[in-house]
Amino acid sequence: MKPVIEIFPLLLQPKNVVITFHQKPDADAMGSALGLYHFLKQIGHTVTVISPTNWSGFLSWMPGCKKVLDYEMQTAKANEVLTKAEWLFCLDFNTMDRTRKMGEILTNLSCTKILIDHHQQPQVEVFDYGISDVTKSSTAEMVYDLIIASGNGDKINVNVAECLYAGVMTDTGSFRFTSTTASVHRMVADLKERGLVHSQIHENLFDNFLESRFRFFGQVLLNRMEVFYEYNTALIAIPQTDLIKFNVKTGDTEGLVNFPLSIHGIKLAAIIIDRGDERKSSFRSKNGFDVNTFARKYFNGGGHFNAAGGKNAEPLVEVVQKFKAAIKENKEQLSSYQF
Ligand code: 5GP
Ligand code: MN
Repeated sequence: MKPVIEIFPLLLQPKNVVITFHQKPDADAMGSALGLYHFLKQIGHTVTVISPTNWSGFLSWMPGCKKVLDYEMQTAKANEVLTKAEWLFCLDFNTMDRTRKMGEILTNLSCTKILIDHHQQPQVEVFDYGISDVTKSSTAEMVYDLIIASGNGDKINVNVAECLYAGVMTDTGSFRFTSTTASVHRMVADLKERGLVHSQIHENLFDNFLESRFRFFGQVLLNRMEVFYEYNTALIAIPQTDLIKFNVKTGDTEGLVNFPLSIHGIKLAAIIIDRGDERKSSFRSKNGFDVNTFARKYFNGGGHFNAAGGKNAEPLVEVVQKFKAAIKENKEQLSSYQF
């Protein structure tokens, strides 16, 4: 993978560009992609954003979101666009299997592939150009850096600013996580100077849920959460029946894992959700426990040091047993927390 700066001289030649990101995109995946989309369109590129799967309704306010193709729902159209692509930007994921059914077709495309990502251990051999930096708060910050470094800061209009702000704000936990560097605050200050109204973005992202989502949170916090004080760990295991009963949609579970993490002394918080086709897990940690390694070792996943996820084919009870065995195996690290 050659450094991404090598594409800067080529940026001004209009091309067919596809931008994609990980399945079930969060605000960083969608925001970084649409920020890049609005930037590249201004230079004259023909740009299409393709999502491997559907996405949460709380992202639909983003400028350009309605033009994004859902690969699962619009496979033929998306494949047609992909075969014409000259450049493929892969944002906010590290391995092709994070794009689900698109993984194989992306790997086999002969176009120029460019990675922009902040996850650990990327599959660098698959990409022609790119930047992988695990110290970055978000992919949105990396897209911002790329636009500035390429000398095109003047192209950061309100559309670009809104999309990039959504990504950096959510991936830093509203500027709370340690990844929130001075550069992140400088970026936000710059976006504000370019016309961003940040309070509206918070409202769009956080104040648009249905009552049923909170009833669902109530149900799982009351009845599905187990706290293992001996291991400074909390787990919420959610059967599919809860998802059906409360009409839980894509994105409704976002943020749920932060509730057990905010219990005093908890060092590892996990949710395991029976989505029917697979058991999807989310892990969050504090005080030096590495969930990227944990997710890789036991749950076919990965991510970052303090936020990772995984997936298992086994039934929910077995994945829960696996989790309990895994925390026992990691007892030394998990129990060392100082109250
Ligand atoms: P979340 O728990 O919010 O779904 O994901 C947390 C972090 O872990 C995100 O950065 C996400 O990209 C990554 N992640 C989530 N699930 C998986 C997975 O199955 N495999 C890998 N490699 N990373 C994941
Ligand atoms: Mn991200």
